[in-house]
Amino acid sequence: MKYINKVAALLVLTILILISYLFISTHAIEQKISQNINRLFVHHVKEISINIDKLIKKYCKKELYQTLKNDEKLREFLQDSLSLVASSPHKYVYVLYRDKKGKYRYLLDGSKEDRGEFDQKLDVDQKRWDEVFFTKKDKIIIHKDSELLYITYLKPIIIDSRVEGIIAIDFTSELPVTISKILDSVKSIFNYIFLSFLALFLILLYQYMLYLKTKRYAITDSLTQVYNRVYLRNFLENIDPSNYAILMLDIDHFKNINDTYGHKIGDFILREFASTLKNILREDDIIVRYGGEEFIIFLKKPGSDKEILNIAERIRKQVEKNAYIYENYNLNITVSIGIILHPERFRTIKEAIKNADELLYRAKREGRNKIVWNKEENYITITQKDIDFVKEAIEEDRIVCYYQPIYDIEKNKIVKYEALVRLIDKKGNLIYPGSFIDKIAYTTIYNSLTKKVLTIVFKTIQKKRIGISVNLKFSDITDNTVFSIIVKEIEKNLALSKYLTIELLENEPLSNSKELGDRLNRLKEYGVSIAIDDFGSGYSNFEIFRYLPIDILKIDGSLIKEIEKSKTSYTIVKTIALFAKDLNIDIVAEFIENDKILKILKELKIIYGQGYFLGKPRKL
Ligand code: GH3
Ligand code: MG
Ligand code: MG
Repeated sequence: MKYINKVAALLVLTILILISYLFISTHAIEQKISQNINRLFVHHVKEISINIDKLIKKYCKKELYQTLKNDEKLREFLQDSLSLVASSPHKYVYVLYRDKKGKYRYLLDGSKEDRGEFDQKLDVDQKRWDEVFFTKKDKIIIHKDSELLYITYLKPIIIDSRVEGIIAIDFTSELPVTISKILDSVKSIFNYIFLSFLALFLILLYQYMLYLKTKRYAITDSLTQVYNRVYLRNFLENIDPSNYAILMLDIDHFKNINDTYGHKIGDFILREFASTLKNILREDDIIVRYGGEEFIIFLKKPGSDKEILNIAERIRKQVEKNAYIYENYNLNITVSIGIILHPERFRTIKEAIKNADELLYRAKREGRNKIVWNKEENYITITQKDIDFVKEAIEEDRIVCYYQPIYDIEKNKIVKYEALVRLIDKKGNLIYPGSFIDKIAYTTIYNSLTKKVLTIVFKTIQKKRIGISVNLKFSDITDNTVFSIIVKEIEKNLALSKYLTIELLENEPLSNSKELGDRLNRLKEYGVSIAIDDFGSGYSNFEIFRYLPIDILKIDGSLIKEIEKSKTSYTIVKTIALFAKDLNIDIVAEFIENDKILKILKELKIIYGQGYFLGKPRKL
């Protein structure tokens, strides 16, 4: 719609310009035609006058007046010849002389009717006739006031250097008038076309304005007049993340204001808050109402990180300082801000926003009315070298999997293996994932690596028909690209998917547990088992069992390692084991390094285990 309208308006505008140009050029053409016609006719009349001059001189060698006065027959003859020349009804040909008083009188008249008498006075344009008489030069008089083309051509008859008479030819033609009439109708056609297109153009323009207005309406939050999420979605698709810093803001304890003073005042505060933001920020900065009292700002990078933080601090201070006065109430609010200074360092802009949100919540946890930003050292600096290192390894087939056995410790029997990715460098050294995985975590190479590992694992399953557990992160499941790679690989190997266990590491607080749960359920439908890795450490949270379809729980190795020495670790492991049993979840104990540990685990009725004591990772 947008483009069609634009193109149509442009087209119409072009046509308008074209027509205006044609309109103006018809005028020029008209002028040119009439000039040419005039020149043509003048030339023609001049020729006639020359012939008349020659004719007269042939019969009158001197003193024209006397000769003609005395010779009536000659006069008749010459007048008849003149009238032959003046054949067209619009031509008059006559010859006058200047008497002693300076008046002009007839010598000859070529008119067919009402011929002027010899010596009869004729009122002429004295000044011009005198000019011809005294300069002895031809003169063309174009009568501008006439509707027709009307030319008078004057030619002096010079005998013995004296002007004996003046030949006058009056010439009229309707031709230029006819042409100009035709051109006029052409012009009026142009006029109509011009006006129609002008009308069309105005209609389109009006429609376009209407469209812009609707569009603005659709992308603006009606309460605060900043952008809404509809705009944000579109905006995110079209930006270069490196040009912006992301500020995520949330008004502190806003619910209290609503609860204490009512929604009306809440709304008032939201409007005032938004206008505070608008006042501090510039045109280039994008303010979006992200949720109820949560706003996201895309701050056009002013230069240094410090300047960004200064702007954020200005916002925080201003909001704190403002008195929000509504009727009798005088209210104060504060705001917490999470900042991502370099969104381009994340795999996707959405990831960056999510991180800004997390930083905002850190600001909340740390007491509110606070700014928290991603410190430089928190970024994993990705270098092209790191990316190429892994990329080349994938391309040159130097990615391999080692497999550590997982035992049924009671029966002392291997039940499955955990696949552990390794990279072989160009010199043939075995490189552990710890030194490269994090560096490529938010790049597309990470996706390629995930794909590669799954391919290798399925190949092994196909060959050996054994269970294999693969390590992934929660964020791999919630990331659309990575998840679709996982699903694609599984769908390629549907019959084998029952051998696969996905071992998930909770690498970040759970933010979208619904989505995660849905996706894991989808994987389960393919026959895949879901394990939780390193349970009892990091972000571990019992709540995940409420949302996620978990089959297996792997107790964090650091607890197992200490189980013989630390009472606390022992109790935690025991509790987890009981809890898991109740939920019908299998337990795997990692880091079984000696027989003492193994013995304790057996006592605790933990069935599955892995560790160097049982078996190191190896090729299969
Ligand atoms: P915190 O400091 O943790 O941010 O606490 P909070 O109370 O600000 O946060 P919480 O998210 O619990 O509450 C946000 C409130 O904002 C809840 C909701 O009723 C209110 N809210 C959301 N949208 C609007 C709105 O358009 N107008 C008004 N008046 N209130 C809104
Ligand atoms: Mg809030
Ligand atoms: Mg909130």
